[in-house]
Amino acid sequence: STSFALYLQQRKQKRQISKFTARPIELRSDEVVRGVAGLIGNTPLVRINSLSDALGVEILGKAEFLNPGGSVKDRVALQMIDDAEKRGLLRPHTGSRIFEGTVGSTGISIATIARARGYDTTIIMPDDVAAEKVKALEALGAEVERVRPASIVDKKQFVNLARRRAVKFGEQDRIDKSDPTSKTHQHLHPYTFESPSQSMLVTSAPQHLEFDSDGSEVGSGSEEGEQRGFFADQFENKSNFDAHFAGTGPEIWRQTSGRVDAFIAGAGTGGTVAGTGQFLKSMNEDIYVAIADPEGSGLYNKVKYGVMFDRKESEGTKRRHQVDTVVEGIGINRLTHNIELALPILDDAFRITDAEAVAMSRYLVKHDGLFLGSSSACNLMACVKLVKQKGWTESKTVVTILCDSGTRHYSKFWNDDYLRKADIPINLQIVEDLLAPL
Ligand code: PMP
Repeated sequence: STSFALYLQQRKQKRQISKFTARPIELRSDEVVRGVAGLIGNTPLVRINSLSDALGVEILGKAEFLNPGGSVKDRVALQMIDDAEKRGLLRPHTGSRIFEGTVGSTGISIATIARARGYDTTIIMPDDVAAEKVKALEALGAEVERVRPASIVDKKQFVNLARRRAVKFGEQDRIDKSDPTSKTHQHLHPYTFESPSQSMLVTSAPQHLEFDSDGSEVGSGSEEGEQRGFFADQFENKSNFDAHFAGTGPEIWRQTSGRVDAFIAGAGTGGTVAGTGQFLKSMNEDIYVAIADPEGSGLYNKVKYGVMFDRKESEGTKRRHQVDTVVEGIGINRLTHNIELALPILDDAFRITDAEAVAMSRYLVKHDGLFLGSSSACNLMACVKLVKQKGWTESKTVVTILCDSGTRHYSKFWNDDYLRKADIPINLQIVEDLLAPL
């Protein structure tokens, strides 16, 4: 249709590469690294032998599960905390507290670094995420608050609640006044849902207008050197993007000597695919960048058709705000700053069902001894679909992210009983059929 053509044209025009703003993560070497932060990043790129051999195309996974906090989010947490310290929003060992809304991985990464720098952490998360993530957070000394995931559009939505808690604790105004275009601080930019017909306000009011239930204004601010509250805000914080633009992207480029034909990642906040994808495209515009999107996420439609919800989905009285899937950490139904940074560079999207992700995860254990989390399995499924769709048979390289390990997913994704009850089949044939030569 003409509107779709227009959308594609606009997307092309908007395709511009961000400035390099973050410091690159230092090379991991034979030397002793300095504390837990020294263990973050510089992860190996592992060839997925079973898939690469079957397809004749190199499928490489960035082994992010080897980070000390167990996931790709260590990079983001380190960058957000480093940047906040540089801007004077956090001072080590002052009793300051970091607040975040997360499904788990980011919280664990923040709590890890926070401990090393003398900060406390409050994590607000939905109450349906795998219990082992809560256990890890508690072991790291984080205060955990779990909220009903159904309350996703109101003030008690986990991200909104984390912001409110931070403001109440005395978060400083973080708007970069020197840069009028800065979108790092989204307190003044309420979240919106995208639909063909309307946008829905998610946050109720900008930070400086927020009131507590008794009507008193919150967020009085604090003096120099006093303890501070910091809302990390991974969804809107550009440090998230920067961690990948300066770390993950350059590492992949170096590790492949620039021989990358495609990069695939799922998007939760969008930071990984936006930062890594933008860096890779800045080196070679022809690198194909696509997302792996679980069922129930609106990103697939956004990339394919320019709107988050298709007509059928938005006509019903009950809009789906939640990404209802056994896959944790990826898929989203609202546009965030980091998603917006990703959209202009996305060439395609692959929808991955729960059954496909489950099949891939079991296939990889059986053939490769790789015990991976749900988003890694989605990513690899999308890699296979891309190779099949393109008809690639040789001399191509597809890179993806192995976000975390299966050990973070014992109670849901790696729990056969749970899957049986949820009617999700465990059927390796799904992968075998896809890999079979036509
Ligand atoms: N995988 C896992 C396990 C995650 O926790 C996340 C982050 N929510 C992602 C993938 C997605 O990464 P990003 O937020 O950079 O889009």
